[in-house]
Parts: sequence; structure tokens; C-alpha cells
Amino acid sequence: MQLHTRILLGLGLGALAGVSVNLVAHDAAWVEWINTYVAGPAGQIFLRLLFMVVIPLVFATLTLGVAALGDLRSLGRIGGRTAAYFVVTTAVAVAIGLTLANVVRPGDGIPSDVTAELVASYQGDADSRLASSGARDFGIGTFVDIVPRNPLKSAVDTQMLQLIFFSVMFGVALALIRPERAAPVLRFLEGLADAVTKLIEITMRLAPYGVFALIFVVTSRFGWTLIGHLGQFVIVVIVGLALHCLVTFTLALQLGARLSPRRFWAAIRAAVVTAFSTSSSNATLPTSLLVAEQRLGIPAPVAGFVLPMGATMNMNGTALFEGVAVLFVAQVFGVELSLADQLMVVILAILTAIGAAGVPGGSIPLLMMMAASVGVPAEGIAIILGVDRLLDMCRTTVNVAGDLTATCVIARLEGGWTGQSVPAQAAPAGAPDARPAVSP
Ligand code: ASP
Repeated sequence: MQLHTRILLGLGLGALAGVSVNLVAHDAAWVEWINTYVAGPAGQIFLRLLFMVVIPLVFATLTLGVAALGDLRSLGRIGGRTAAYFVVTTAVAVAIGLTLANVVRPGDGIPSDVTAELVASYQGDADSRLASSGARDFGIGTFVDIVPRNPLKSAVDTQMLQLIFFSVMFGVALALIRPERAAPVLRFLEGLADAVTKLIEITMRLAPYGVFALIFVVTSRFGWTLIGHLGQFVIVVIVGLALHCLVTFTLALQLGARLSPRRFWAAIRAAVVTAFSTSSSNATLPTSLLVAEQRLGIPAPVAGFVLPMGATMNMNGTALFEGVAVLFVAQVFGVELSLADQLMVVILAILTAIGAAGVPGGSIPLLMMMAASVGVPAEGIAIILGVDRLLDMCRTTVNVAGDLTATCVIARLEGGWTGQSVPAQAAPAGAPDARPAVSP
């Protein structure tokens, strides 16, 4: 059986087992025992195996991608295109979210005792997330912070924007020095990237089990009653995300990459399932890189440039979710947001989607700051935390699909790749596969 089919099977079976257990034995001690001693640790080990390679992978692939561009003009061109693409699609995503939230008004009609109860239950969680993120107010310091004092410390603290900045600058410098001096460093980085890729291929063999465990833990513990109160909010976010995939990504793929969306989604299945089950763009980056190069046939320098940046800076799903969340909380607390306020929400959503860490719940602290900036009570964000894991799974999937869409568009614009370059194995789902999704 193909690897991506097994991963999908792991997802389906894990969800089925988790939901069944949730229905028949929600609070049973044995379920907690399984989650604490078996499924939880198994899922965490899989996640950590993915996280473990992210830092060397970003450094090696991004530096090599930039160095391969050869000169500053090419870097400026691809960098400009990538940044423009990220900003435009993120803005479209927030606009979709805000439009839906204005039309449906999911926050109206939530009884105040439900609000009070939700705030009381999740306030502590909200406070500790804000405190541990170390997030501060937006300001000039936010930009200064992108430049690291010490790149090793950035790597240790997983400060991805700082690491990206250093890797890009280092790649530029390698392209500018004498080729015979740069060659050994580049060879080393190529070896490093190859070894890390091999590690990912090994880890992905465990993916069906890891995905099963991660989904089991989430679904077996999930409090479905919460969905009752927050149902409209959840539906608005999910419909918005689906619209963004169906409309924005389809247009971008067809017009920008000349690639049929059907082939695209069939090719990226492994990345989609990994994103959905890990809720982390960073943890999915290794899989995305493999999928881009092996299944979509994207040239390594382009994938190595766009994807590591995208994992941190391009979060369409997160931006859409943030827009809906701020409006929802405003509606619950009776705060009217004017058009100007909502424009501010668009700008802040773009900025926070760039700054949010690609880890589970990475956007929540920034979302709280964003709410406060437009006069919506930040502690109000507590009311949505109960359903956040579910929404995080969905928005991360859109974030990752957005990164891969961007990679296709940029690859075509840069020349040398078209929708026709997608290897035949990635033909529509159901076609006989000659090669497993993400293994050698
Ligand atoms: N979990 C998301 C990601 O990694 C970030 C977020 O929206 O919280 O892409």
C-alpha cells in the first residue's frame, strides 16, 4: 500500500477510534490512561521527530536556495514575488473571513451566562499562553526583533523569522564571495540537506501510526457540547477556509501555475494529512519540501526558498480565522467594529499571520493582542479556546496548502517549471502510483 494511503488510513482509523471512545466512555479512567501512556507519547514522539529536523532543514535549504539564485537581482525578483503573493493571498483570506462574519454574525445571540462560563473555564489557559509566548505590543521593536543578535540563540529559541533572516543573508554572502571559497560550504550544506531529508523519509514511515495517535488523543478528549454553543463560529471558519481553497487557490493554480487543482491536491495529500494531524506548519515543513520536490517536481532552489519562508510567514488559514475570531468576540461582547476598525483587522491579521509561530496554537497570543488593539476585550478570546484545536487543524491545513500553492506559482513565474512538469505519478487520485508519496 502506498505511504500516503497508509497515512490517510491512520487518520481515518484514529478519528474513528477516538470518536467512538468519546461517545461510549468519555470520562473513563482507562481512556485517560491510554492517552497519557500510549497514544499521547506516541503522537509526541512523531511530532518531535518532525520538529527535530526543522532548524537544520530551514537553514540548509534556504541558504542553498538563496545561494543558487546567484545574484542580488534574482533574489530581489523572487523575494519580491514571494512577498507580494503572501500578502495578497493573506489579505484575500481575511477579507473572506470578515465578509462571512459580517453576514452571518455568529456572535449574536450567545447567552451571557454561556459567555461567562466559557471565560471562567478558559481564562487561565488564555493568560498562560500569552505569558509563555513572551508576545509584546506591536511596534517598531517587532521589526527590530527580526534581526538576530546571535543566530545560534535564534535557532535554540526557534525564532524562525530571525533564522530566516540569517539564512537569507548568509546565502547572499555565499553568492557574492569567490566561487572556489563558497564551494566547500555549499557542498557541506547540500550534504546536510540530504541527510536531513533522509531523516524525514525515515520519520514519515512512522507517520501512519503517529497520525493515528495524534488524532485519537484529540478526538477522544474533545468536548462536543462546546460545539453546540460555538457551532456557528466553527462553521463560519470552516466554510471560509473551504471557500479560500476552492476559489483563491484554484484561481492561483490555474492562472498562476497552469496546474489543475485536482492534480495539485492529489500530489500534496501527504502534506495535507500531516498538517491536519499535527496542527503545525513547522512540523509539516519537512513533508511539504519532499512533496514539492518529489510529487510536484518543483526545482529544489525554488522549493527551498519559498517553503521555509511560507511555513512561518504565509498563513492564509490563520489570517482568515483571526478575522472571524475578532469579529465574533466583538459581536459576543457587543462591540461594534466600524469599517476603519475592520480595515485595521485586515492589516493586523496580515502582520500577525507573518509573525505567528508555526506551532499548534501559535497564533493565539498574537490574536489576543490584535483584539485588544481594536478595542475588543483580549480576555474574550478565551471563549473560543475550547474549539481551538479543531480549528487549528483546519487552518494549518490551509496554511500548508497555501505555501505549496505559492511554490507552484513562483516556480512557474521563475521559469523552468510548468504544470506539465508534475511527475506522472502525481496524476489524479486513484491513478496507479509508481512511487510512494514521500519515500525514496
Ligand atoms: N498552527 C498554525 C500553524 O502552524 C498556527 C496557528 O494558527 O496557530 O500554521
